[in-house]
Amino acid sequence: MTLDKRLGQRFLPYGANYLDWSDMDELREAIDQGVLFRYQTDGESVASRLERRVAERLGAGHVLAVHNCTEALRLALISTRPRTGDLVHIPAVTFVAVAGAVLSSGLIPVLVDVDDSLSMDTTLLPPGTRRSIVAHMEGTVAPLPEGVPYVVEDCAQALGARFPDGRHAGTRGYAGTFSFHHNKVLTSGEGGLLVTGDRAAWETMRCYHDHGSARVPGHYPTWNQDAHFGENFVTSEGVAAIQYQQFRHLDALLAGLERMHALAMQELPDRPDLTVLPRAAGDVKISLRFRWESRELRDAAVAALTARSIANWTLGKYFLPEHPVLTGRRSLYGDGFPWNLAPAGPLALSRDGFARTRDLLDRTLCVPLSPELPEQEQVLAVKALRQTLEAV
Ligand SMILES: *Cc1c(COP(=O)(O)O)cnc(C)c1O
Repeated sequence: MTLDKRLGQRFLPYGANYLDWSDMDELREAIDQGVLFRYQTDGESVASRLERRVAERLGAGHVLAVHNCTEALRLALISTRPRTGDLVHIPAVTFVAVAGAVLSSGLIPVLVDVDDSLSMDTTLLPPGTRRSIVAHMEGTVAPLPEGVPYVVEDCAQALGARFPDGRHAGTRGYAGTFSFHHNKVLTSGEGGLLVTGDRAAWETMRCYHDHGSARVPGHYPTWNQDAHFGENFVTSEGVAAIQYQQFRHLDALLAGLERMHALAMQELPDRPDLTVLPRAAGDVKISLRFRWESRELRDAAVAALTARSIANWTLGKYFLPEHPVLTGRRSLYGDGFPWNLAPAGPLALSRDGFARTRDLLDRTLCVPLSPELPEQEQVLAVKALRQTLEAV
């Protein structure tokens, strides 16, 4: 396959490049033992090993594996014991799963404007804000609001990122959530993790994620007299085994991204109408984020890259103020729950009705980096990118 073809066919498959039968010992073990349910035996499950490894790797207090990041967000929110209809402040620019997790937990999302880096502008949060989800988008570490008791860090796109103080994204707020969907840093097709430093919160989450039970591994679940209802978010040994394998490659993957990012920063064209959004040292460099002077130029760049089969994407899909899930305020419940509990008036915090945010998104373009390529191929890919951008 030619390099151009390889770059064009890949669309964000970071960890997917490291899926390899010769490196699937945990999966083989689980299959050989004939057990894919984590609580089947009282020995240490693959899921528990994964949780232990994640705690060590990220410096997280407590870890729980679940099916996906959306469930992890729901669990984090519900474990704060909110009242139905309570508000949760979320960024106006993020994947709709964030809003869906809030609504399906019986809570009301309030969209908050973003800054130049497309992270939530925490200065807009009103005093007394109780709950907020901060999303570290495209590997960019976002600032956390001060004085908010329940900050959930959505790290779906930022596994391995670090704050300036060295702590990992996901470990500074009340809870952190991670995704292993195909398009994320590491993958098990679908998969999620939840981390928290709060032992009692972890107990509540563990209980809720297994039907509200106080299960002892190896046994049928039991329920305490004060049990509350729960759901079933218990992960599978097969999925946990693949996640465990993927974690073996996290450092190489992050290093490959760093290397290609550094190469690209040296090679990019010097055009007055094009800027590259800066990346902090601790960000995961999953993409180059470009900002053009106008939407027309951005669209021309999309066309030029696409014609050369260079993968790229824009971020309009993340603009929640115009997302039908939010504008329509529809629900499958007959009484419109939970929208029927929303306060009157717009559920938005913006200085200008999101005009600036919209303009930023209209001029932004992302190009993924390829951690798995050897350096020589990364150099060629960066040169092809440079030529294409110069000709726009
Ligand atoms: C992918 C993603 C999610 C949802 O993750 P799933 O594992 O697919 O549920 C949530 N938030 C952000 C920012 C995402 O990119």
